Amino acid sequence: MKYVTLPAGEQVPALGMGTWMIGEDRSSRAAEIATLQHGIDLGMTLVDTAEMYGEGASEQLVGEAIRGRRERVFLVSKVYPYHAGRKEMPIACERSLKRLGVDCLDLYLLHWRGSVPLAETVETFDRLHSQGKIRHWGVSNLDTDDMQALCALPGGGQVTVNQVLYNLSRRGIEWDLLPWCEERKIPLMAYSPIEQARLLRHPGLCKLAEERGVTPAQLALAWLLHRDQVIAIPKASSRAHVEQNFAALEYKFDAETLAEIDCLFPPPDEATPLEML
Ligand code: NDP
Repeated sequence: MKYVTLPAGEQVPALGMGTWMIGEDRSSRAAEIATLQHGIDLGMTLVDTAEMYGEGASEQLVGEAIRGRRERVFLVSKVYPYHAGRKEMPIACERSLKRLGVDCLDLYLLHWRGSVPLAETVETFDRLHSQGKIRHWGVSNLDTDDMQALCALPGGGQVTVNQVLYNLSRRGIEWDLLPWCEERKIPLMAYSPIEQARLLRHPGLCKLAEERGVTPAQLALAWLLHRDQVIAIPKASSRAHVEQNFAALEYKFDAETLAEIDCLFPPPDEATPLEML
């Protein structure tokens, strides 16, 4: 496994697992649990979920999957923006903990910025941290100006990660947000790292992957993983996909392949607002 260092010094896997859309269909439940457990056993011990996913169904399934494995897992969940206030967040957090069957989250993220003032959210994260309910807090879908506003607040500099849409076809953050976070050693967590499978239909990527003896999903993941401060959280619901994604860690880029990727998926040449799914 490759690791990324959080601002507080703790190391977490650079390749984890997402769980959006998991836990919603009873007929695939057992297979989804077994798949997550297999990924954890391989070393992809960072698991990302949210109260939003299936309105708690994903957290419940993750809770079942990590039973007996809790100590090995770095557990991430997210709070709805409209639950991010001083009254609502402790209740939402308690509900997430209960569904997950744990006493404490490793990382709790604001899912996206809403109408609750960031200062109130930071203050509430801080309180949950003091109470031992969360070990770290962070944000998701915050662009550079939002990050600047956050970090200017008392305690705002304690932000641990920003989880954003980042993959070969969504490189806008390389213009400003990525360098801004890199400079402050705030890791980025890349969500939808294979663009919800749409990248797998890109003819140029398919051809390049075939030439390099890997799958398009592996090349897309390996490209994210070659950066120092990026954590990728692909969602996979089969054992074969989990194994393939894990093997992406072995791929080593050469300058020629990186240049070909830049031709297929050009980096940004101007500032663009952060995209969201
Ligand atoms: P991904 O980019 O991870 O794509 C998931 C799709 O890719 C699924 O259809 C999956 O198929 C397929 N797939 C995975 N591995 C392979 C493989 N090796 N070969 C072929 N196909 C593969 O999309 P997500 O949107 O799910 O993003 C990942 C995670 O990021 C989410 O699950 C969630 O945890 C988080 N997220 C956070 C957001 C936020 O706002 N903070 C927004 C969106 C996502 P299959 O299921 O059949 O394996």
